[in-house]
Amino acid sequence: MVQYLFPPEPVKAVPVIGEAALYPVRRIFCVGRNYVDHAREMGLEVDREAPFYFTKSPYSAELTGGVFPYPPGTTNFHYEMELVVAMGADVFRATRDQAAAAVYGYGCGLDMTRRDLQLAERSKQRPWDTGKDVEHSAILAPLTKAADFGAIADQAITLDQNGTRKQQARLSDMVWKVDEIIAHLSGLYHLGRGDLIFTGTPAGVGPVVAGDVICGQIQGLAPVTLTIA
Ligand code: MN
Repeated sequence: MVQYLFPPEPVKAVPVIGEAALYPVRRIFCVGRNYVDHAREMGLEVDREAPFYFTKSPYSAELTGGVFPYPPGTTNFHYEMELVVAMGADVFRATRDQAAAAVYGYGCGLDMTRRDLQLAERSKQRPWDTGKDVEHSAILAPLTKAADFGAIADQAITLDQNGTRKQQARLSDMVWKVDEIIAHLSGLYHLGRGDLIFTGTPAGVGPVVAGDVICGQIQGLAPVTLTIA
């Protein structure tokens, strides 16, 4: 029997609509600049050669409906509303068809970002970790199984801040499609069950302040909400 010096942190897990069992999170990958208008508002263009990624620690994952503090080290903490893909099978060097078949389900997610730190890191050609891998920064709604969601098409993706619409786009606006992302990422990692992929945010990102209520929605999925303490 394995003994630990102290109790290990419990595995982060996400509810699945229609399932009693939870989906345990193994890794969190995130796609950068996957909507043309958001890349532009960040002063950059989408990289058409290949998608690029950053990661968040699974420890950063939290469930929808939570109240979390404004994080330390920033004065420009931003929301980013995203479609989250949950992997359901092992894939390595997958074709687009194999990639599509390996999706377990989809959910709404918020990629909360210390924008000031991310931009400083970007300008100094340093890693984005302190900007992106922030405690309580990967907010997850319950997952919907892929078969129940159906095909990714022109479903609306929106974000409201205190009831005011700030982000509005369609999933069809994504530059790199979900199967392309998985196919590409599976050339870099052995993807599998428990891996989540945040697929990028549309234009309209912005700062939050204490007391804000953020609500992100994608047509056909459970919404994600976050309150800043
Ligand atoms: Mn993002």
